[in-house]
Amino acid sequence: MEKGLISVDRWTEGSQVYFLTHLHSDHTHGLSSSWAKGPLFCSRLTAKLFGFKFPDFNLSLIRILDIGSWHSLSLVSPSIGSQTTVQVMAIDAHHCPGAVMLLFRGEFGCLLYTGDFRWEATSERANRGRDMLCNAIKDEAVDIVYLDNTYCNPSYTFPTRQIAAQQVVDIIVSHPEHDVIIGIDTLGKEDLLLHISRVLQIKIWVWPERLQTMHLLGFHDNFTTNTSLTRVRAVPRYSFSTETLEGLNTMRPTIGIMPSGLPWVKHLQRDDNLFDSLLTRYNRRKMSTNGEVRTDQPDGKSRYVEKLHEYIYSVPYSDHSSFLEIEDFVKIVQPTNLKGIVSASTCYIEPMYYFGCLCGANQPAQRLHYKHKRKGRGRVAAGQTKSSFGSGNSAKYERKRGSIVKIKFLGGHVSRVTALRRMQHGAKILENESPENSC
Ligand SMILES: [Zn+2]
Repeated sequence: MEKGLISVDRWTEGSQVYFLTHLHSDHTHGLSSSWAKGPLFCSRLTAKLFGFKFPDFNLSLIRILDIGSWHSLSLVSPSIGSQTTVQVMAIDAHHCPGAVMLLFRGEFGCLLYTGDFRWEATSERANRGRDMLCNAIKDEAVDIVYLDNTYCNPSYTFPTRQIAAQQVVDIIVSHPEHDVIIGIDTLGKEDLLLHISRVLQIKIWVWPERLQTMHLLGFHDNFTTNTSLTRVRAVPRYSFSTETLEGLNTMRPTIGIMPSGLPWVKHLQRDDNLFDSLLTRYNRRKMSTNGEVRTDQPDGKSRYVEKLHEYIYSVPYSDHSSFLEIEDFVKIVQPTNLKGIVSASTCYIEPMYYFGCLCGANQPAQRLHYKHKRKGRGRVAAGQTKSSFGSGNSAKYERKRGSIVKIKFLGGHVSRVTALRRMQHGAKILENESPENSC
């Protein structure tokens, strides 16, 4: 797609129309209350939440994308000056409230921008989204998928959110005398909190701004800002730390639960022993023949919950797709090309590394290494640190996750994503290194 036509989750460049997949801060970087570059398209729910995040924003710029319907936009081709039509459909991304994938078609072909997404196969809502996408592309060849590759690595395997939510409940029930704090962001994980509230028949404390968000989302009965009404509190992720837990435990027995696809390793730079134990646990993991990672258990069952600290549990409740879910998604969409939208400065795993063989292009240079079934994975592709949406380098998407934390690793400080990837792989290779396995 040529430069100057549309931008997705990018707010600094000149385009004719802008699209917002969801309101997490790593997708709104550059957007502000005074931003007024042009029409901004988003889902109805995102529009409802928008004014709360950006007070004083000129809401007349907001355009609603109804989910599941094609919207037709008449734009002007910047290169030749003639009119061109772009069609776009929003599809539920099953990520956080209001999050959508965006499917575009026009003279440039057919492009799918996933934004952040979870591709579960077990819920009615997930099946609706799957059917919607399949119907939309049944007569289309998808040229490029811009993919949420947050967990695009065979190491990242975790259960459905339904199972993980029950794990959280089990932890809370097994600590009847403890207060419980759960780390969350300003948006997302609502279903987890609702599950806890309904199963345990308790209210959950949230901070005042989060209560306003809950009310905007229509949840009026399950949350409170009165600490005396409940022993379970959802707190901002940034305030969730070992120091916080240790401080709370000087007053009352308290445990912390971090719902995340990754083990939570914040503040470990001052606790090398804890970090070493985390490394050891990861090195103990074994790759099964279907690519899943299991932790050794005496009873042979998989274990997903990690106790990272005397007071801290990590539960793999993820709003991003696991590796196997991404694989299933790519098999269904079968795009010609794949580009990751999540990058890290020092280690970026190009999705084509794993899924090139599932894509239509099947170009030799891209038919890299569909080797998640291999046991001794020692190498990863370390390619570009940016992905682009648009022509050439004109619309590079450089994303730093809002919750990135720095941890000490091999003498340096890197993001937790980078560190964990390095734990798994130990080295990087060049993109053109010869593949050992092809599909
Ligand atoms: Zn997100």
